[in-house]
Amino acid sequence: MLPFKLVYSDDYYLPIGAHVFPAEKYRKIRDRLLENGVADASDFITPQPAYDQDVLLVHTPAYVQKLKTGTLTAREQLELEIPYSPELVQAFWLAAGGSILAADYALRNGIAFNIGGGFHHAFPDHGEGFCMIHDVAVAIRRMQRDDKITRAMTVDCDVHHGNGTAAIFAGTRVPTGPLPSTSASTLSPATPAKVRNAHAGDVFTISLHQENNYPMWKPPSSIDVDLPDGIRDDDYLAWLDNALSSGLRQFDPELIFYIAGADPYREDQLGGLALTIEGLKRRDELVFKIARARNIPVMVTYAGGYARRVEDTVTIHCNTVIAAKELYESR
Ligand SMILES: [Zn+2]
Repeated sequence: MLPFKLVYSDDYYLPIGAHVFPAEKYRKIRDRLLENGVADASDFITPQPAYDQDVLLVHTPAYVQKLKTGTLTAREQLELEIPYSPELVQAFWLAAGGSILAADYALRNGIAFNIGGGFHHAFPDHGEGFCMIHDVAVAIRRMQRDDKITRAMTVDCDVHHGNGTAAIFAGTRVPTGPLPSTSASTLSPATPAKVRNAHAGDVFTISLHQENNYPMWKPPSSIDVDLPDGIRDDDYLAWLDNALSSGLRQFDPELIFYIAGADPYREDQLGGLALTIEGLKRRDELVFKIARARNIPVMVTYAGGYARRVEDTVTIHCNTVIAAKELYESR
């Protein structure tokens, strides 16, 4: 039995037909974790859909109304990049409920997973990039509304910039200096990443992403690390370490929301970075080690993953659970 919970439902499946987004990955992750003996059935808990009032903590009434009544414009449907249906709305509400439940369990047990969610491209008034509503933002606002937390941090390691997250949590911005050069010696001078850094407010957002990729418009996160194409494991990990260290010097979160996208993988169809499966597991370990050393609970969610072989995406996501198991069982 795991020392933490995995929130999952068969109804996380997104009814979008043949699509680059592997909607079947959630069930495959669950099956693999059970087959490999990483988890047993009692480790899984089933979410309920988010209440509309929770979704409305983030999204506009007009947008929620359009989703509920199937009245998105043609352009709005196009931006979403997945075909609208009432069943799809249900699946996204369920994913948001799952992120709320996982956030709650993270506060109890130190860590919890939503085996779904991470829809970081959704904005208050529209969806895009396969993301209808922003489950992570909904969970943050719900935890705050219930007075379970005041300050949250998002750590977004999907290959794509967390544009929805940045837009939702944008505050009055006070630019700070560049990141300290503590681990700069380990960074490749030939391929400098750009770091943008500005924060104010109760949610601190960190995004490490490929600069030359969707979305074209990247609204500022608290810390953005714009990575060059083709970056490899060691450079990526150094930038992540640097961003986390800098973020945690500036801000003291009560809960971290870790968006563990599988798409920085070198064989991803929509990504242009070059991380290995082993490097991605080291990424997960780094986030967990830093959070655990500071006793900050972590809610984990999955976001993207478009490997040529869907089994690789499943392996990367399962490894995130294994990384947590190894670390959180050790004490
Ligand atoms: Zn992505």
